Amino acid sequence: MSQLSQIEILGAGPAGLYTAILIRRLLPNVRVRVTEQNPEGATFGFGVVFSNEALTFLKSDDPETHQMIIPLMENWENMTLNLPAGQVTLDGVGFTAISRHRLIEVLKERATALGIPVRFKTELKSVDELKADIVIGADGLNSLVRRTFAKTFKPKLEYFQNHFAWFGASIPFDTLTQTFIETNNGPLNAHHYRFSPDRSTFIIECENETFKSFGFSKMDEMESAKICSNLFKKTLKGTELITNKSNWRQFPRLWCENWVSGRNVLIGDAAHSAHFSIGSGTRLAMEDSISLVQSLKNHTNIDEALAAYQNHRQPIAHKIVNAATTSAVWYESFGHKMQLKPLDFAYDYLTRSGRMTDERLLKVAPTFAGAYQEFKSKKK
Ligand SMILES: Cc1cc2nc3c(=O)[nH]c(=O)nc-3n(C[C@H](O)[C@H](O)[C@H](O)COP(=O)(O)OP(=O)(O)OC[C@H]3O[C@@H](n4cnc5c(N)ncnc54)[C@H](O)[C@@H]3O)c2cc1C
Repeated sequence: MSQLSQIEILGAGPAGLYTAILIRRLLPNVRVRVTEQNPEGATFGFGVVFSNEALTFLKSDDPETHQMIIPLMENWENMTLNLPAGQVTLDGVGFTAISRHRLIEVLKERATALGIPVRFKTELKSVDELKADIVIGADGLNSLVRRTFAKTFKPKLEYFQNHFAWFGASIPFDTLTQTFIETNNGPLNAHHYRFSPDRSTFIIECENETFKSFGFSKMDEMESAKICSNLFKKTLKGTELITNKSNWRQFPRLWCENWVSGRNVLIGDAAHSAHFSIGSGTRLAMEDSISLVQSLKNHTNIDEALAAYQNHRQPIAHKIVNAATTSAVWYESFGHKMQLKPLDFAYDYLTRSGRMTDERLLKVAPTFAGAYQEFKSKKK
């Protein structure tokens, strides 16, 4: 790509850092710089999950980064649903998880080793401050780049109805688990899984009525952490939840009609969001990076390269974003579904996307499928 000599990236999350690394690897003659508002080492959240095959995408494009990340990952084969009426194991629903902080650290170390300048503690107030052939908006959900060129990007932003708070736990869990509980104020669900040998993510979710009954909106994060620690005392084995910007929120549903505005381009959460229940936001962000850098490598004209990125990547991301939306909507009535027998509940959960047929279920989760078939035949 002869026209291209300088790229500026806004945001040092997974999308921004990974894009910088790939640019250095695949376009070694292009200067690239990353700007990040947070100080080095500061980030939100705890662990993130990837579906089992999700990391293979890293292997071919950047085996070094893949090798640095793999030893930091926790893996498991099954998923567990804990319901007031009993426990169900979903065999074959494998995931891997990593600390978000560690993932960003590894990407930063790799970027530094490749000589990429990363300016921390630099909050950009205007995109005009960046002079380059291309400005990449990897600046997350509240993207300045997206807001600046909103007329072209045409974002649609709504919020799912449920409320959630992203906590951490100081104990590991055997598998990715969801614990559904009934309380006097309504039902709650915790999505919990270990992301290191001694730390877990613990996301608590509830419907609007329960949220209001508890009065979570009037509490600070410490107060709600205390109450939630108590509600999930048995699951947490008496330990206290850990906080890190763990305020109650509603998950945003964002999709931009266009990802390119002139020489400004969006990747990751700046362009789209995917509900955490299918664990895909980080993967999507990093796959956007791969697609964008590949397009820049494959085209000599910058505008054609950016158009090719959008054309190639949008339909793929759209499928995953839609699956995430279907999943998020399923959770909006999980309290009602808790009246089902545990195996019926589990079946409803597994088939929520509409893409899991009985035939596929038998292949993916044979033990569960067998138990469910037996249960159904006894009910008849
Ligand atoms: C509760 C919850 C659970 C999740 N669980 C998972 C999961 O299990 N698996 C998964 O894959 N994903 C998960 N995600 C989603 C995942 O966190 C995001 O999809 C991912 O972080 C997107 O990466 P990104 O680089 O696009 O954006 P971000 O990680 O948000 O990074 C954007 C960066 O830009 C910086 N920035 C923003 N504005 C400016 C500015 N003006 N100047 C300078 N810097 C700026 C920010 O400080 C930030 O560092 C979860 C999200 C939530 C909320």
